[in-house]
Parts: sequence; structure tokens; C-alpha cells
Amino acid sequence: MLLDVRHLHKAFGGNQAVNDVSFSLHAGELLALIGPNGAGKSTTFNLVNGQLAPDSGHITLDGVSLLGLQPHELWRLGVSRTFQIAQTFGSLTVVENVQMALLSADGQSLSPWRRATHYRRNDALALLAQVHLHEQANRPCSALAYGDVKRLELAMALANEPRVLLMDEPTAGMAPDERHALMDLTRRLVTQRGVAVLFTEHSMDVVFGHADRVLVMARGALIAQGTPAQVQADAHVQAVYFGSGKTFGGSHTSQASEEASRHPMTGLTTSQPSTTGDPS
Ligand code: ADP
Ligand code: MG
Repeated sequence: MLLDVRHLHKAFGGNQAVNDVSFSLHAGELLALIGPNGAGKSTTFNLVNGQLAPDSGHITLDGVSLLGLQPHELWRLGVSRTFQIAQTFGSLTVVENVQMALLSADGQSLSPWRRATHYRRNDALALLAQVHLHEQANRPCSALAYGDVKRLELAMALANEPRVLLMDEPTAGMAPDERHALMDLTRRLVTQRGVAVLFTEHSMDVVFGHADRVLVMARGALIAQGTPAQVQADAHVQAVYFGSGKTFGGSHTSQASEEASRHPMTGLTTSQPSTTGDPS
């Protein structure tokens, strides 16, 4: 067991957004977190990545408490996050974005206007090769297709050799075949590197096609967890999805407005208008 989450609670006013949630995540595992809108997925995700502090509960990585650590401190410990929205510097080239992530992983201070042109360029190119983006290395990020931006975000998240990778709706806004290609790629990286992945996802074909295990939340609580087959057969889960008129086909709702606008590694707010944003 790599990441262990015990009895997390988080309320906003009187609203118990996360209510006694416990789960664990193992090395080499792809764990999906699903549930209807408002179930508490994003709040759980943000508790794990350090953006929110729980009211009570414990989160440990290899037995070491992560409570109270900021996202950039977690990143240094090997907890990486990819964002739903394109968190890249559009004016930089593709490889420079990865070089920025490498600078950050190495504890260097950086700013978007200090170009990282020479920093660990070969390592950055190797990371791009892993996500099949090396041929686009010298293009500006703003020229990338949406699916390529998502792969770039993955390469950047890998820059600190993470042990835990947190992906918030990694395939949002992608076409079905692109979605599966990204998850196949994620699976390969998980297998090769022994990374543990926790991801939230609206697209049920992605969840049931790629996850090793699935956590299901409703109204702040974890109502089921198990293999995709176990969860699909669970009566409570079916009631939550089918009983509410929703199906496992799922409707996609963009959560971009909920997400922080800060760059995952630098903590800098990306103030320039993004031309690589979510087309949905
Ligand atoms: P999900 O991601 O599953 O759609 P969220 O974790 O975003 O659900 O939200 C869970 C509940 O907490 C919802 O009722 C939501 O309105 C509430 N909530 C989430 N974030 C905040 C916040 N920053 N302030 C107040 N209420 C919030
Ligand atoms: Mg959400």
C-alpha cells in the first residue's frame, strides 16, 4: 500500500462534502473515483493533493503523514497532479514546458519569462518520447491539438518521477478513441514505472475499460469500491446512477471553473489567455 486515506471529513458550512472516506492506493494500480455531480469527488481529490485541508482524517504516503503539506511540497515527495484544464505556458515550446517541470522537480525557482531552453533538454525529450510527443517538441504549446496538450500535461506530471499520479478527468473533452489512447498510455507508464494513479472520470467507458479498481461516491460518502465488474453489479451503485435517471453512459459536465488556475509545479497563475483550453 502506497497511499492510505483514512476517515476523511470535509464540510463547507453545514454541507458535509466528504464524509468518512477511507481508501488505499497501491503501486502499479489505476484507481478511479466516480459518482454523480456533487458527490464529493473533487473535494476528495483536493484533500489528497493538498489544495484543501481535511476537518479530520489521515492521509499517508508510505506511512508518512501528508497532512498540512502544500501541493508543491507533495510534488517534491512524488505526488504529481495533472489538471483538467491545460496548465501549460502557451508561449513556450512543448519541450520547454517539460524543461520547466524538470526545473521545478529539481527544486529550482523559475518564472515563465525565464526560458528553460538549455535545462536537461535530453531528459525533457525523453519524457516527450514516452508520451509520443517528441516530434512536436519545438512547436509552441499554443499550436498543439487538445489531445496533445493532455499528453504534454502527462509528460510534465512525470518530470518529478512521481510515485502517485493524481489525474482529474484526464480525458475530459477528448474524442472516444483519443480517450482510450491516453488511458492505454497511462497504463503503460503505470506498469513501467510502478506509479499509482488516482483519477476522477465522467466517461464510464474509460472507467470500466481501464481502471483496476473503482471507488464510488454519493453525497459525500463512499458507497462502493471494488473491481469494475463488482461495482457495476452493486445494487446501491445502480440505484444511485439508474435511480436518478442517470446511466453509466454518464453526462459530462465541465468542472473547469472549480479548478485552480495555478500552474501545478510553479504555483504561478497562468495569466496569459490560453489558446489551448478545453473545447467543451
Ligand atoms: P463532485 O466533484 O463529485 O461533483 P464536489 O466535491 O465538487 O463534488 O462537491 C461536493 C459538495 O461540496 C457539493 O455539494 C458542492 O456544492 C460542495 N462544495 C464543493 N466545493 C465547495 C466550496 N469550495 N465551497 C462550498 N461548497 C463546496
Ligand atoms: Mg467535481
